[in-house]
Amino acid sequence: MNKCIRAARAVTLTHGKNPVIEDFALIHDGERILETGTWSELKDQFSGEVEDLGDVAIVPGLINAHVHLELSHLKGKTVQEQGFTNWIKSLLSNPLYDLDTEAVRDAVQQMRADGTAFCVDISTRNCAQVAAIMDEFGMGFYACCEAIGVQQPKEGAKFFPQKKFNHGRSAGSGHSLYSTGAELLQAVKAANNKAGLPYPIHLAENEEEDEIVAHGTGEFAGMLKGAGLLADCGSKGLRPVEYADSLGLLDDSTLAVHCVRVAESDINILAERKVNVCLCPRSNTYIGEGRAPWEKILKSGINTCLGTDSIASNHDLSMWNELEYLLKNIKISLSTAEALALVTTNSAKALKIDDLYGSLDKGKRAVYATIPAHLEDLLF
Ligand SMILES: [Zn+2]
Repeated sequence: MNKCIRAARAVTLTHGKNPVIEDFALIHDGERILETGTWSELKDQFSGEVEDLGDVAIVPGLINAHVHLELSHLKGKTVQEQGFTNWIKSLLSNPLYDLDTEAVRDAVQQMRADGTAFCVDISTRNCAQVAAIMDEFGMGFYACCEAIGVQQPKEGAKFFPQKKFNHGRSAGSGHSLYSTGAELLQAVKAANNKAGLPYPIHLAENEEEDEIVAHGTGEFAGMLKGAGLLADCGSKGLRPVEYADSLGLLDDSTLAVHCVRVAESDINILAERKVNVCLCPRSNTYIGEGRAPWEKILKSGINTCLGTDSIASNHDLSMWNELEYLLKNIKISLSTAEALALVTTNSAKALKIDDLYGSLDKGKRAVYATIPAHLEDLLF
């Protein structure tokens, strides 16, 4: 049975543009969008159930391009604004991988209620369980099984299960240049590329990473070494982006997460390789890593999107709050479409899911988000 959703306003982001459509209506069959337009245009051809959302503005379902749902039980359990080494020490003092399925379910439910329709989840140990929960709540997803450690990948190794879900797919991801061996990172990248999947990796997040990649030294390097997780980055004085590039990890299906510590030359490399960047502004602030040069990254034309990162380094997993934080602190002005693209169209492009997500268009998944009233002023 087809249904119709009405809203006073919508920004459909069709073709990346932002005509605000007043008196908006969307007809769907429960799965896909069948038609969009104004209610006055569509009312004569529609006879089913109408859900009127009232005086609100709707946009395409939001995309959270970086989250770790397996850490959902760690809200408020880590130190804030004391830098990465202190943050990781406090993180590791918790039972990291004892999956609390109730906490994950609550997190996914809240994300759905907030308008998030798709997320890229990175889990180290509990990929399959988290995927099943996302699927249950109708969350679109990539459930990324994170490769970490310095072991050589085995011949013919599978880096993620081939299981099918209603709303998502499994994929691989690399933890970081410093914690995951080069051959392993390359093998996962090759497996994802072969399957047509994006390849997420934490990149250029903090000064600890700079020091390890360039010289293999520092307190954090010592901690990693003690845990048998210190990758040999060659100690050639390279910057993380340069080193990632030398390993062949950067292309248009790479999702470089964080990119806080990027110089102009790094931004040029990322732009040249058509890498997608996922910024996690509130997580970087929470940990005390500083902030990425958002303005330069956006001006370079790099396809940029947003993620919350885990609840262990954020106050919530709301994409609206993430976007609000960026818009209140960024030093350039973004149009409505440019701002919303960071959580919709750009993310869909980066993740190769723009056949189903990113705009309110015929044929795409019938998912939408409602702009919170207090954000309308910031966006319009
Ligand atoms: Zn992360």
